[in-house]
Amino acid sequence: SNHGENFALAELFNTDATTLQGRVKPFSDFYRDTVEKGMVHYSREIVSAVSNRTRVRAADGTIREMIMLGSNNYLGLTTHPHVIGRIKDALDTFGAGVGGPPLLGGMTELHRLLEKRLSRMKGAEDTMLFGSGYQANLGWINTLIRADDVLLYDAYNHASLYDGIALTAAKTKFSAIRFAHNDMDHLERLLQRYRKAEDRPNRQIFVAAEGVYSMDGDLVPLPRISALCATYGAVLMVDDAHGTGVMGRHGGGVGEHFGMKDGVDIWVGSFSKAFGMTGGFLSASREVIDYLRFCSRAYIFSAHLPITTVAAVLGGLEVLEREPERIVRLHENARYLEKALSGLGFKTFREAAIIPVHMPPDANIREVCKLFDDEGIFLNSIEYPAVSKDGQRLRLSVMATHTPQDLDEAIAAFERVGRTVGILAGSSWRGPQ
Ligand code: PMP
Repeated sequence: SNHGENFALAELFNTDATTLQGRVKPFSDFYRDTVEKGMVHYSREIVSAVSNRTRVRAADGTIREMIMLGSNNYLGLTTHPHVIGRIKDALDTFGAGVGGPPLLGGMTELHRLLEKRLSRMKGAEDTMLFGSGYQANLGWINTLIRADDVLLYDAYNHASLYDGIALTAAKTKFSAIRFAHNDMDHLERLLQRYRKAEDRPNRQIFVAAEGVYSMDGDLVPLPRISALCATYGAVLMVDDAHGTGVMGRHGGGVGEHFGMKDGVDIWVGSFSKAFGMTGGFLSASREVIDYLRFCSRAYIFSAHLPITTVAAVLGGLEVLEREPERIVRLHENARYLEKALSGLGFKTFREAAIIPVHMPPDANIREVCKLFDDEGIFLNSIEYPAVSKDGQRLRLSVMATHTPQDLDEAIAAFERVGRTVGILAGSSWRGPQ
């Protein structure tokens, strides 16, 4: 199942129509029909701060509190008084906005401070901030990869990596080759095949992986992949969007989790997960960052992050230092929930804060979501074409702020829904193969 590359919803609704209205109508008709049947679990309106219990407007306009299992705000930082205080102080000092891109008047001392703090967290020499994690991925690929280079990437990488490849391929003749998810033997065979060839003396091999895979919640085998890259002289990029703030005792990410200070050339991260904000970053050696600051179009031609975001992430990093128990609680909660769900017979998994709950290919996942909605459980479903047809699943995101009562209520709802739709009792389905 992937995860980005195959996501081409528009293709399912292709028409020969030549007018704008004609082109969009088949999807619009499908969507309206789905909404009328009450199966609306996309873009629901949230009317309170996002935490363990979140107020949400239902389709009929009524507002109710739901148990939130669908937010990346893993640590509950969005409502932390220190984070809010940091934002207020920054507003008083710097005003509401920044005046442009980082090279042209959009760099404040607070942005610089955040770069330094993130470098320390990642064990890197320098860090640059991007408008989003998505942009960070476009930014490095498109700038660092040259003709004749080879990019070997995990099949489960995020859509932004796929889009970075497409953007780069539009102007550079390089090879992008996918290895089977977390299959280090496959990666090694590809490294052997593509190592600097005699006829390609300038070839550089890049390897791209994620710290915590966003749809499956499993970790990269970092020591192994890093050793392979060292052996074959490949540059390693790890996108740790879902590991930063979550993995490692201090939330440093999968590097800290595996006790590895070196061995990754480029770290990509996002503020849209554990930090509960929006924005991205890239950490690497001073030389790599100097180069990207002046050569990456995704960096040069886009305004710097808002001061409020920078202040909130700085505040979040300070909270992590003062209250590392938040990370402990997050993992305790995830462990508790996953254990109970697999005990009930659901096909599930946990290494970080993302818990996929696989659904049989013949289950109507939208109906399942409607039942959870009726139960007051807010969760996300991942359906075709975001993943393959037999990869459809519910995707739970656990938070440090969930109480035992929240989790027990959610588990009870899972048991009821599981029985109602027959996913549990009497099912011969053994999970995805
Ligand atoms: N990389 C990964 C692995 C992700 O999961 C995501 C977000 N889903 C991104 C990048 C994009 O991050 P952002 O939301 O900051 O654009």
